[in-house]
Amino acid sequence: MMRQSKTLIPTLKETPADAEAASHKWLLRAGFIRQNISGVYTFLPLGKKVLNKIEAIVREEMDAIGANETFMPALQSAELWKETERWDAMGDELIRLKDRHKRDFVLGPTHEEIATSLIRDAVRSYKQLPLTIYQIQTKFRDERRPRFGLLRGREFIMKDAYSFHTSEESLNESYQLMFDAYTRIFKRLGLNFRPVIADAGAMGGKDTHEFMALADIGEDTIAFSTDSDYAANIEMAEVLDTYEFSTEPQQPLTKVDTPGQKTMQEVADFLNQDISQGMKSLLFKADDDFVLVVTRGDHEVNEIKLKHYLKAKTVALVEEEETIKLMNVGFGSIGPIGVPEGIRVVYDNAVKALSNATCGANEDGVHYINVNPTRDLIDPEYADIRFIQEGDPSPDGKGTIKFAEGIEIGQVFKLGKFYAEKLGATYLNQQGKSEVLTMGCYGIGVSRTLAAIVEQYHDDRGITWPVEIAPYQVHLLVLNNKPEQLELADQLYQQLTDAGFDVLYDDRNERAGVKFADSDLIGIPYRITVGKKASEGIVECKVRRTNEQEERHQSELISYLT
Ligand code: ATP
Ligand code: MG
Ligand code: MG
Ligand code: MG
Repeated sequence: MMRQSKTLIPTLKETPADAEAASHKWLLRAGFIRQNISGVYTFLPLGKKVLNKIEAIVREEMDAIGANETFMPALQSAELWKETERWDAMGDELIRLKDRHKRDFVLGPTHEEIATSLIRDAVRSYKQLPLTIYQIQTKFRDERRPRFGLLRGREFIMKDAYSFHTSEESLNESYQLMFDAYTRIFKRLGLNFRPVIADAGAMGGKDTHEFMALADIGEDTIAFSTDSDYAANIEMAEVLDTYEFSTEPQQPLTKVDTPGQKTMQEVADFLNQDISQGMKSLLFKADDDFVLVVTRGDHEVNEIKLKHYLKAKTVALVEEEETIKLMNVGFGSIGPIGVPEGIRVVYDNAVKALSNATCGANEDGVHYINVNPTRDLIDPEYADIRFIQEGDPSPDGKGTIKFAEGIEIGQVFKLGKFYAEKLGATYLNQQGKSEVLTMGCYGIGVSRTLAAIVEQYHDDRGITWPVEIAPYQVHLLVLNNKPEQLELADQLYQQLTDAGFDVLYDDRNERAGVKFADSDLIGIPYRITVGKKASEGIVECKVRRTNEQEERHQSELISYLT
């Protein structure tokens, strides 16, 4: 029997000072979570129940599209991360540690490395493909600003899936299956959400969509059309406004050794030397300046984005001995600077347009400027950029642009061959020839989604859970512990649980006001109160979300609830 007197539900009267987001405040106050350290939480019994229900829905939909559930390690060898170069690229977000033998490890922020190396070793033939694996597991990211409770944690729960293919077509099929499964999951969770076109920059991928739960607290802005399904993360919407351009191949790069942290000026000076390393670079001609941009991964999206930011109309080939002006932009996270050997580079004022940029170099002498040229970083005084505005025509020719704030609850991603190439993940094709795998990856922030639901389901008294994921469906309150009230409440508890309802029974020796306030805080969809009319078998029924209240005879309860 789920007696509240025996359940750990430490509700709080006061709102903790740092709880800005509604979900943070209500989940703390209603006794669903407790903070341990910044960005790290314990799920209390109520929180764990909701988590279990969300996970069950995610599992059902993943299993339904044939994804294989696994459970991969959080503790990972740094070797794999060095092989994919994310040991450097992830920067300070990656939590690193050493074992007793001083070997490097990471606590997994995501599992492309582990999943790819697993399939590299466990799958040999095209006959075993396509294949999708998934897990629901704890992730670790040393976020610069952990905040808003479960919305941005340093330790959080993610469902992550990885699909492996012999062709782009096969990847496209799985991507669509995942996209549809995500749509079903978020619908079942009762969320008001939108899939949006997203930026694939840093992960070395191409097509990608984010699933955004609409909420004012959301840290992303969505640009959507008033008259069509068009919706994009604003970062992406900004670059869809394209210019004429073409690309040419660039020169191969070789490595030089220049360690140490650099200021902008030092990087400027440094760029007057010949440097290099093995990333792809693109040379743009913007107005009269040449701009060399070095990016990682698949560069199509970066090209679109850059020609927008730079108003670049032509792309030129780097010529030996030519003097060019340079601006380097790293997308998403960080991008190494590379300049072909024999090219003299003059640092350009244009880089000032990217205020907030930080520079540095890793142990291997690869230099970085860490910027993401979005509207909050670019100084319009230096860059002739017009950002997309509300009321602009949209990109698909239908309607005008409107903005909304969103919480990224999930993302689906066509990775292509990036990780498989780096980690040497191959299979034997029909002709017995070795080929590199094509991949997709797909994440849902399970704990963030829980918080996003609360952002959409609360009022000024607490949480108003949708029935499907509420910790319990019925909150049974007994007003005072008189024998006839306890007797009826015990009977009802039995009757309701026999009928398959999840019931929390508030049998505590507390004042009615305390019980009602806690019940509103916790937000179980139906409240049934056994009070004065217990001897007649009459109880009070209340719908949490609408406040509709009515008296019912005990014999009518099941039909009332269904
Ligand atoms: P964000 O842009 O908010 O930092 P992300 O793009 O870095 O998220 P992904 O790498 O796409 O996140 O991870 C998959 C999902 O994990 C995200 O869509 C999000 O729902 C969730 N997630 C990411 N970071 C966090 C976090 N710090 N706390 C809680 N959930 C997170
Ligand atoms: Mg992030
Ligand atoms: Mg994101
Ligand atoms: Mg993402």
